[in-house]
Amino acid sequence: VIEEGEPLHAVRTTCAYCGVGCSFEAGVREERVVRMVPADDGPSNQGHACMKGRFGWTYNYAPDRLRTPLLRQGQEWVEISWSAALDRIAEEWTRIKSAHGPDALATISSSRGTNEENYLFGKFMRCVIGSNHIDNCARVCHSATVTGMMETLGASAATNSIHDLDLAKLILVVGANPTESHPVLGARIKRAARRGVPLVVIDPRRTELARLADLHLQLHPGTNVALLNGMGHVIVKEHLTDTVFVSNRTQGFDEWLNLVAGCTPEATSSVTGVPVHLITEAARLYAKSGGSMAVHGLGMTEHRWGSHGVMALVNLALATGNIGKPGTGINPLRGQNNVQGASDVGCLPTFFAGYQPLTDSTLGAAHLAVTGRPLPTARGMKTPDMWDAALAGRLKTLWIIGYDVAQTDPNLKKVHAALNSLEFLIVQDLFMSETAKLAHLVIPGASFLEKDGTFTNLERRIQRIRKAVEPPNGVLPDWQVVCEVSARMGYPMQYSHPSAIMDEIAQLAPLFAGVSYDRLDRPEGLQWPVPSTTHPGTALMHEQSFPKGKAQFVPVEYLPPGEIPSDTYPLVLITGRILQHYNCGAQTRRTDIMQVVDTDVLEIHAGDAARLDLREGDQVRLISARGEARLPVVVSDRVQPGELFTSFHFPDTDLNVLLSSSADESSKCPEYKVSTVRLEKVTQT
Ligand code: SF4
Repeated sequence: VIEEGEPLHAVRTTCAYCGVGCSFEAGVREERVVRMVPADDGPSNQGHACMKGRFGWTYNYAPDRLRTPLLRQGQEWVEISWSAALDRIAEEWTRIKSAHGPDALATISSSRGTNEENYLFGKFMRCVIGSNHIDNCARVCHSATVTGMMETLGASAATNSIHDLDLAKLILVVGANPTESHPVLGARIKRAARRGVPLVVIDPRRTELARLADLHLQLHPGTNVALLNGMGHVIVKEHLTDTVFVSNRTQGFDEWLNLVAGCTPEATSSVTGVPVHLITEAARLYAKSGGSMAVHGLGMTEHRWGSHGVMALVNLALATGNIGKPGTGINPLRGQNNVQGASDVGCLPTFFAGYQPLTDSTLGAAHLAVTGRPLPTARGMKTPDMWDAALAGRLKTLWIIGYDVAQTDPNLKKVHAALNSLEFLIVQDLFMSETAKLAHLVIPGASFLEKDGTFTNLERRIQRIRKAVEPPNGVLPDWQVVCEVSARMGYPMQYSHPSAIMDEIAQLAPLFAGVSYDRLDRPEGLQWPVPSTTHPGTALMHEQSFPKGKAQFVPVEYLPPGEIPSDTYPLVLITGRILQHYNCGAQTRRTDIMQVVDTDVLEIHAGDAARLDLREGDQVRLISARGEARLPVVVSDRVQPGELFTSFHFPDTDLNVLLSSSADESSKCPEYKVSTVRLEKVTQT
């Protein structure tokens, strides 16, 4: 049921789906949310919303919401009290730490949780366990962006604001499908294109934006680096670089020149499959527009060389001076509601809050003064390292909050084996997820409608979420669960409200020094960096200088993806999202959106379908070197011959069993966008 009478009051909050961060008024009647209305003064949505934000929140009242902690006893789940559950976590973690040391314990936090919860989970690991073995779901989406932008620009977040899409003189979309994954932002790009702003789309699929685009560069999956270097070659050859910007604001240009000298359009075309004239034309348009704004998504990052792709894109922006000005820049479309914030506040094995190096001695002293505990300086494990450590017997316990790794990580058989090898797996979630089913202890979570906190959207905008209704049966928000366990392990963390946690973040991270709930209590929130309490926030980054003074060109050669088609596995499978559903589908599958789409489907090109004697609706077995999955097919002109696409929202498909452990070399971002498979038609019975 979506609407149950008129709301009696409204509570201002932020959408808990994608990184656009649309503002909403949650209408409440008799202690129940009855509708969600997009806020006219929402800075990123201006009264607009997509179907997920507008109608996809009723999972909050799904009958299978977890309401009580559950302990596994043999094959049975037994309901236990909150105090027994919290005691059990503390006992198991104290025991394992004493027996095996801090490296035997790790946590994975959630981009769905608030900034305050993510910071606190990191604090728990650093102060109570004494390690940096903490990661979050950004590992599987934009960790390659973090690496690529940190190495080139010294900061890993969108350089500009969503509003800049209205100022850009050209929009370059690389490996992103925002009309489905970030619909309100996608609509803004469509409006710009209809106003006549040139739109260039680089994507293996003919997405909605690709159909609207002036140029669609339909490259082979995994060849972003080659294509962007080829565009660089044209820009240099035709003297389209911004020589003043390059000389004043960058370093390493000559090394990049040497690299792109060999990347002729002809050579680029042979690798990418994109015709020479499109490579040339795209390069000219991008360099000559007078203000080109790049946005990129997971089609850029989820590759074996994803961070190199980001660097290749930044190199183009630096060479043409398309950065540090309105309507330009490098703008990753962060996927989940708070995937930006989870990394910002230090839920990373490699950085503390505000992307401060763990070895920074000034930070170390401040951390000791504020928390009373030293900051561990050794880098922690990234999520894929945790699977290896579990399988090797080094990692004994894992505490996962709001992240269904057993459905969403690649090479699922390996992930399941790793989870099954743990002595004690704790999962905190709204529902009995695929990961929770493998746990020893399951703790219910409070939803975004049931707690206070902040999310940070894809333009670095920190916005409030506010408690509209009570959680069921006294369920605790994640931050309180962490505080309770911490106290039981001898390190009390006492906060009267999440605002006090934000005050501590501001104290320890200069990027957020001027952030407080008082200042966030306005529709526009605050865009970081906010270096002081009088600073208005930063809509445009790198206007005068980069964090390290100059930006760094990082020349990156094209290298092939982890898998290339063979006689046994001749097709390339690409995975991604669709408009109606969201990631593992845990929320949207529990709403009326199921009446619109209730299954994943496999897109196949008409030529391949005819060759394999497949018709619309036929079931096929997708087979890779790691396993198989079943899906119905749709014949589609959105994919090229030899390529397939499917979404991943339904666990029954077992899709991620197919995917390899191939990942970006430096960030470990998995290569979801390139897996080789073969197809077999399932004979109807
Ligand atoms: Fe929510 Fe994103 Fe849709 Fe906005 S565009 S309503 S943030 S899912």
